[in-house]
Amino acid sequence: MATAKDMQHFLKELTCVKYGNFIDGKWKEGSAGETYTVYNASNQTQALAEFPRSNKEDVEMAVSAANKAFKSWSQLPGPERGAILYKIADLLEANADELAFIVSAEQGKILKESIGEVLRAAKETRFSAGEAFRMEGQTLPAERGNVWNSTVREPIGVIAAIAPWNFPMVTPMRKIAPALAYGCTVVYKPATATPWTSARIMGLLAEAGVPDGVVNLVIGSGSEVGDCLVQHPAVKGISFTGSTALGIKINEMAARKLAKTQLELGGKNPAVVIDYDNVKEVANQIVEAACTCSGQRCTSISRVIVIKEKKAELLAALLKKIKQIRVGPSWEEEATIGPLVNQNHLKTVQKYIEIGKREGAALLYGGEILTGGKFESGAYMTPALFDNVHPSMQIAQEEIFGPVITVTEVETLEEALAVANNVDYGLAAVIFTRDLATAYKYVEKIDSGMVHINHGTASAAHLPFGGTKNSGTGAFSIGHSNLDFFTDLKTVYVGY
Ligand code: NAD
Repeated sequence: MATAKDMQHFLKELTCVKYGNFIDGKWKEGSAGETYTVYNASNQTQALAEFPRSNKEDVEMAVSAANKAFKSWSQLPGPERGAILYKIADLLEANADELAFIVSAEQGKILKESIGEVLRAAKETRFSAGEAFRMEGQTLPAERGNVWNSTVREPIGVIAAIAPWNFPMVTPMRKIAPALAYGCTVVYKPATATPWTSARIMGLLAEAGVPDGVVNLVIGSGSEVGDCLVQHPAVKGISFTGSTALGIKINEMAARKLAKTQLELGGKNPAVVIDYDNVKEVANQIVEAACTCSGQRCTSISRVIVIKEKKAELLAALLKKIKQIRVGPSWEEEATIGPLVNQNHLKTVQKYIEIGKREGAALLYGGEILTGGKFESGAYMTPALFDNVHPSMQIAQEEIFGPVITVTEVETLEEALAVANNVDYGLAAVIFTRDLATAYKYVEKIDSGMVHINHGTASAAHLPFGGTKNSGTGAFSIGHSNLDFFTDLKTVYVGY
């Protein structure tokens, strides 16, 4: 297993490589001939690699390659597609150390988290490989004699896969693997901040035997590449993970040509605390779910809603745990969280720290920018804990996407539910309670795609993943629910 020291060595050895787009099985320079450099998120004076600023022409080539490849890929028997996916999963595991270095370097998360991300991507790919064997339809009774009725599933065609920068390894594989399993082909656009992992993934897909044109990579900005990719007439489905504002825009563009969408958007995830056996365990789960990946997870816990009698005890435990967090570069052994992805994002999160103070919330801990020494060339901040947060405050309503926890006191379970539901989002929701009736009431009444009882917001590699309200629409990803997005239904009547 790679160590943080190995990562430093890897970065020192690194010479700035130039990547192109990956189209029809070949690396191609961007048509405009323009490139940009990606820097180490933990030390932004260190260049990592150069990538193309692509344009509409590159998208055109990639979609055309994916469209051509669809004819043969969709005809390949499911078990053969599955066999290739099993090889991809094996290759992800075999190259886990190098892939984790790349993820940590471009994204900033600590090495341990990146290794976990790569292994998780392998696990999800393996689940998808099995899905290639399970594209089931139904057999139904007929209205008349001598008729046989059934439904079959068919892949929809070219998928545009568009991802944000927080999970550069798992998000692409979460889209590419099921697409391949069900017989679709893909044009993938990573976030401009994190294209390096994607470039490395393309090499591994080719090594596993994915035929030319089945998965294509186009690197570039949302406005230059994303828009025309979404609007391309040959693109039949858009699997998008990112902000709600963009998701709505993409849904509008897709609706104009009746393309399907799978949208995984923002969150403002509550953890309701009613009662517990062990306050330390509850605080550990909350702080971990809030601060992993420096809070840059759509499923991060960001709001703690606690019953009055438990508040003092819980606050003390939360403070103790949050103070144990060590911020540092992704390669540092002692670091428990890395920097934010870049300075722009740090500014956004800092804006919310100021808003929280102005709104009258009590900043009990953290929220400061770290500078000097190892912090000089990255977007580092300490995690923040706000108390006395009124549910209507901006910091309790808007997605901050950083290591910031708000605490709101309530009198009853009903009030907790009302506060938890009083946001535009509905992605993941948590409750801590020892009472079964309370737990089930929460499951019933909470507006959320995923519910966790006495459990942080970690998801599993085979369970449907998604949200309600402004957190998403379309078929949930990860689990068997993907079938609804990547395939269309065909109804068959056979007279005999
Ligand atoms: P973003 O919405 O700014 O960007 C996401 C992707 O969309 C990027 O690749 C971007 O280049 C691309 N894009 C930009 N403009 C486009 C356009 N006009 N057409 C097509 N594509 C375009 O999101 P971000 O800032 O990179 O990521 C953070 C957001 O992602 C947060 O809101 C977070 O909650 C959300 N997210 C959600 C999930 C989930 O599963 N629900 C998971 C991770 C992140």
